[in-house]
Amino acid sequence: MLCPFCRESESKVVDSRGSQEFVIRRRRECLACGRRFTTYEKMEESPLKVVKKDDSRVPFDREKIRAGIETACYKRPISPDQIEELINKVELEVYEAFDREVPSRFIGEKVCEGLRQLDQVAFVRFASVYRSFQDVDDFVEELQLLRSRSHS
Ligand SMILES: [Zn+2]
Repeated sequence: MLCPFCRESESKVVDSRGSQEFVIRRRRECLACGRRFTTYEKMEESPLKVVKKDDSRVPFDREKIRAGIETACYKRPISPDQIEELINKVELEVYEAFDREVPSRFIGEKVCEGLRQLDQVAFVRFASVYRSFQDVDDFVEELQLLRSRSHS
């Protein structure tokens, strides 16, 4: 994201707002000249990395969030539309708050918040596994284990 004033490529996000679906309006501040400018960025154009608890980085993947939410909502009265809405909400919050890297903890907390409003059982399932693992990938696996155990 080049500064329109001095062409510096390093800037930081100082404010952002989802203006329409999948387009993020960001106020940026140039790290060289300190001037501020506005950008409109499609989410696909600004790929985010997720920082896991062991400090490794993986690409942000909404399908992983979906897997976690769907597993937590298994056999609960929650429609696919509600799940989609929650994923979109979490994704938007992530892109608004972070520029390049998002801690996996942030994603987990946002999913917890959303599930708490949707369904208490799904929330408790997700939160109990999440709190001990702190990582979306890990808790998807653990939730799937819990699910298979409860059926045997
Ligand atoms: Zn500049």
